[in-house]
Amino acid sequence: MIRIRQLNKSYQVGGRPLHVLSDLHLDVEEGEFVAIMGSSGSGKSTLLNVLGILDAYDSGTYHLGETLVKDLNEADAARYRNRYVGFVFQSFHLLPFKSATENVALPLYYAGVGRRQRTERANELLERVGLADRGHHLPSQLSGGQKQRVAIARALVTRPRVVLADEPTGALDSTTSDEIMELLLDVNHSDGATILIVTHEGEVARRTDRTVLLHDGRIVS
Ligand code: ADP
Ligand code: MG
Repeated sequence: MIRIRQLNKSYQVGGRPLHVLSDLHLDVEEGEFVAIMGSSGSGKSTLLNVLGILDAYDSGTYHLGETLVKDLNEADAARYRNRYVGFVFQSFHLLPFKSATENVALPLYYAGVGRRQRTERANELLERVGLADRGHHLPSQLSGGQKQRVAIARALVTRPRVVLADEPTGALDSTTSDEIMELLLDVNHSDGATILIVTHEGEVARRTDRTVLLHDGRIVS
């Protein structure tokens, strides 16, 4: 599903290159659930952003399914992202003045789906994550765990083959974190979605199929 070869990425900082990902080699099979660990600044978010086509890379290759993701223009990047990838963030990234249903439906708007169908599908997803009765709530009217459920529903609404989650339980207490992990495991098992999750928590990583460890932008195991 994901095939990375000799991938390098650096940022320009103060006119100098800062090498952030170095010669990465990574294969993730369809349906795998993989944890990405490593200390702060090791390049985990950068890697996830490259995988999610939110950010470009300098050299090497990245195949997502059959598609070589390289040097895409904005429009193609957005199209591939919308079609293949669902993203979940530590801080949820929900739109504050939109209801839960509207937040979940948003990717379908960009995919050109009509309003009635968007709302129907969004409500199905809210039901799936156990929030059938919270569709009219604004994010500020939801708990942290509920916000993350809404964000997961939004990530799933386009039926992506890959779900990328950057410390999705990092802002949650341990019980809520367990519930979010249960939900992601169910998405992995029932939908067969490929999932990559960045985490600091051994408890979270232990429940995935395997862990990729990053150190200074290199995969060390
Ligand atoms: P992690 O998620 O593992 O904590 P990041 O991928 O966020 O690490 O960052 C890796 C390195 O890249 C860090 O040294 C960080 O300072 C640097 N970095 C991240 N984003 C940028 C950016 N937009 N511009 C310059 N440097 C960045
Ligand atoms: Mg990070």
